Amino acid sequence: MSSPKVGFVSLGCPKALVDSERILTQLRTEGYAITPDYNDADVVVVNTCGFIDSAKAESLDAIGEAIAENGRVIVTGCMGVEESVIRDVHPSVLAVTGPQQYEQVVRAVHEAAPPNLQHAPYIDLVPPQGIKLTPRHYAYLKISEGCNHRCSFCIIPSMRGDLVSRPIGDVMGEAERLVNAGVKELLVISQDTSAYGVDVKFRSGFWNGRPIKTHMTQLSEALAGFGVWTRLHYVYPYPHVDEVIPLMAEGKILPYLDIPFQHASPRILKLMKRPAFEDKTLARIKRWREICPDLTLRSTFIVGFPGETEDEFQYLLDWMSEAQLDRVGCFQYSPVTGAKANELPDAVPDEVKQERWDRFMAHQQAISTERLAQKVGREIDVLIDEIDEDGAIGRSSADAPEIDGNVFVSSERTLQPGDMVRVRINDSDEYDLYGQAI
Ligand code: SF4
Repeated sequence: MSSPKVGFVSLGCPKALVDSERILTQLRTEGYAITPDYNDADVVVVNTCGFIDSAKAESLDAIGEAIAENGRVIVTGCMGVEESVIRDVHPSVLAVTGPQQYEQVVRAVHEAAPPNLQHAPYIDLVPPQGIKLTPRHYAYLKISEGCNHRCSFCIIPSMRGDLVSRPIGDVMGEAERLVNAGVKELLVISQDTSAYGVDVKFRSGFWNGRPIKTHMTQLSEALAGFGVWTRLHYVYPYPHVDEVIPLMAEGKILPYLDIPFQHASPRILKLMKRPAFEDKTLARIKRWREICPDLTLRSTFIVGFPGETEDEFQYLLDWMSEAQLDRVGCFQYSPVTGAKANELPDAVPDEVKQERWDRFMAHQQAISTERLAQKVGREIDVLIDEIDEDGAIGRSSADAPEIDGNVFVSSERTLQPGDMVRVRINDSDEYDLYGQAI
């Protein structure tokens, strides 16, 4: 009897990707085959994203495509919390489950395509680190679910609930398995990495018999022991974030902080109900850079938030000039169904949002270009992601996969994805660096 086959469509953010990996690991362990072909699959699982309305529309389209191509579809992920919306559009879906409901998804798969009971889980070859959807040499490490904040533009807490930290022993165990399986870079993710452990009062857990506090700093120190790159995402500028800067300066974790500032104007930040905002952020950035001059700061911003005046927007541009961030993404505000910010007065007209977005991007591009140009002539470590006909493409400590720039590397020797090489930088542009392996 052959193994039942499952098709899998994974949409959304890195956090959703981690959910997909866990579901796939479980199914594979039970003897299911994973197929990239709709026609070949006994059932198709669609892991959806419900973060903003355009993502919901994309999720509904993906469900529609799977129904048209295969007909037997299970929906999971963030959009699963809106079961009635999904069933209105696609009444034939077999089951709808929400984010992190791994057991329910797996149960729905069992019903739609019963497992082959002759399968022997201890004999079948499942890599201990699970089935990865990312390249083998980097992996996302999810340390908590949910969020205790209530930012007015965000509906994640209503979808995912309050913060629940994973036990530190589990996180360390997963990191160890990933490193043993060849992962060279761990990307620590959550909704709020700096809040790790708040829900359990930072209690100590155990890993390999050693006590470690459930806290971002102690986690960072422990992860440093694996000797691979550790990159922190979604950190808010709480005072204790200062503690990880020396770890970065000592080369224990990557000198990289992804802090979603979203705005700089105190009034707009208040309307956004952003956590950990204080008007001394610029002074702290300056101090961090004094301690760790190689620190890369990445952030995202929203322009055209309801009520944003031209003066407040200009304040943001001035702040950007001072902050000199390295990597920046920017969104034009768009209402998300269910978000409190929709009730705010003085919506910014679309053409003004577009005009501010254009100005913001031009302003930041000049800053990024200048900061990258300062790297020309230096030697840096580069992790190779892929090889194409022109050479190798990799990333430095300053570049997270998918969202930041690349380093294009020429080399006289043959390079492979996952190689770590020393590169002399000889050119730069707005986003990327160019160099020669040495
Ligand atoms: S910190 Fe704010 S934006 Fe981030 S998940 Fe929590 S509520 Fe949403």
